[in-house]
Amino acid sequence: MSKTPAANDCRESTRSLEALDMALRSALLAWYARERRDLPWRRTRDPYAIWVSETMLQQTRVETARPYWERFVRELPTVQSLAEAPESRVLALWSGLGYYRRARMMHAAARRVVAEHGGRLPAEAEALRSLEGVGAYTAGAIASIAFGRRVALVDGNVARVLARWFAVTDDVKSAGGSARTWRLAERLVEGLAPGQEPGDWNQALMELGATVCTPRDPACGGCPVAALCEAHRRGIASELPRVAKKRQPATQQRVAIVLSSGRALLLARRRSDALFGGLWEPPSAEDGLPALAARLGVDANELRAAGHVVHVLSHRRLRVDVAHGPLGARRRWALPGPDYEEVRVVPLRELGERAHSTLARKILRMANVPIGGVRS
Ligand code: SF4
Repeated sequence: MSKTPAANDCRESTRSLEALDMALRSALLAWYARERRDLPWRRTRDPYAIWVSETMLQQTRVETARPYWERFVRELPTVQSLAEAPESRVLALWSGLGYYRRARMMHAAARRVVAEHGGRLPAEAEALRSLEGVGAYTAGAIASIAFGRRVALVDGNVARVLARWFAVTDDVKSAGGSARTWRLAERLVEGLAPGQEPGDWNQALMELGATVCTPRDPACGGCPVAALCEAHRRGIASELPRVAKKRQPATQQRVAIVLSSGRALLLARRRSDALFGGLWEPPSAEDGLPALAARLGVDANELRAAGHVVHVLSHRRLRVDVAHGPLGARRRWALPGPDYEEVRVVPLRELGERAHSTLARKILRMANVPIGGVRS
């Protein structure tokens, strides 16, 4: 029986799609082999080291993450060592990277890997996804890079590249747009030829997005797949991907009191279920300077205003007015508020050993407390 014209058209378009995918794969992989950046976590296939790098890179730039990753895997080189480390040590190694929930989840997941998988990370994406803090992206990264599985991943870079290659005009963060980019990523990785490494492919996609197909002003002139890119052909590369505008995060007003001498300062540790949970910082509060000073038992009139700092989180913007005063000789201090579980006088030289946020550093700098030796 002869095929209908519609069936023939459909077969033709499937064939041309396959040819396009093949051309994209070989052009991008050849470019990646030549141009890939030499990053420390690309020199290993240790699943644990790759897991740490992928977790750090979720919200952090490569150059910021690099020294943290090097120190983290040097001090805690195995899943076992991470599982056995106290949370305070894990958070101290993470201090300054932000999004501390990532570190806490990884810590919990390491304990489960030891208890349920004999200390070895599972190779399959589905098993990886059952671990705390491991979503579809991280599971895809570990399974493909460390274990060579043909599993897709989509992060912001990959979504942008795919939206441009295939001229996806849906909002890539909407349910439909995200499903579409995941389907494209799966199609591309599943069709890799023997000898084409899924880990290389996924990293090549991310690398193109990070270095060439950048959000603004994509460098189409030097792009290895320009001849295959639909957005480039139509002249709409810089209009894609489409993403609905985010609402500005609400501003939250706080006040912090820095009490210090030349050698020590007062720090309080936040409750583990509070924002910045488990981290040390100068006491702060939302209900104003007089209330915070009263809880600490200091005279607000003896404090001087040092200025304010602004810290932007994913869902809120903090503006913190900083007041500074002398520490005095008192040894016992009351908790500064319900978000804290411990308060103590800490020698300045010990600051680097205590987990603290970038916001805490900003506050200390504003109060002119010397924090030399603490990583920024
Ligand atoms: Fe991105 Fe331009 Fe390359 Fe297309 S041609 S993938 S838009 S850099």
